[in-house]
Amino acid sequence: MARAYENPSNPSADVDAATLPLRGGRLCLDFANTVDWHAGARHGQEYLTSYAELIAWGRHAGILAGDEAHTLMREAAHHAERAQAALDQAIALREVVYRVFSVLAHGRPTDAGDLAALNAVLVEAHAHLRLRAGTPHFSWAWEPDGPALDRILWPVARSAAELLTADELERVRECASDSCGWLFLDTSKNRSRRWCDMAGCGNRAKARRHYARGRRSTGPDT
Ligand SMILES: [Zn+2]
Repeated sequence: MARAYENPSNPSADVDAATLPLRGGRLCLDFANTVDWHAGARHGQEYLTSYAELIAWGRHAGILAGDEAHTLMREAAHHAERAQAALDQAIALREVVYRVFSVLAHGRPTDAGDLAALNAVLVEAHAHLRLRAGTPHFSWAWEPDGPALDRILWPVARSAAELLTADELERVRECASDSCGWLFLDTSKNRSRRWCDMAGCGNRAKARRHYARGRRSTGPDT
């Protein structure tokens, strides 16, 4: 269900998991961006508020087909506790992915516990990875049989692994807004992108700088 709230990227937006902007440039970064105010002291706006919202995001991000989402929702209706556990796991993975890429974006080393947690999900994910015949070459696919409630974690973990082992890892950035915390891949030519969204976070920072300059030139009012 759409809610109105203060989103750092779009202050007056009605956004939910199914309509959230996908600005990360990679699946794992978009998944990390399913909460707002990730970096700030203020508590975040959670988008993954239910298993249904998680599935809605999976559809939105293109990792679940309509029939797969339907099957998972049917399974979740019969196994509410397992669906909740899968949602908890997804949020835990999201926080691991956020921390891993956030520290790397700031040139700091990855926490060993976070890497171990990501590896644990990868082991599980790779157990479900299959080769699919095709031309001109084969492709990777997730096993289609069995409605695994946590299957949305598999492509996210694999996306994180692929990015961590790619040259473009050095292009991962965290939005320069103090509070936003959204992650993205800087694909600009001169590697100078600072904001997840220039129209949102970028403009607000510009407005704050402008306001601060004005305050300095006129002196404080109080
Ligand atoms: Zn931002």
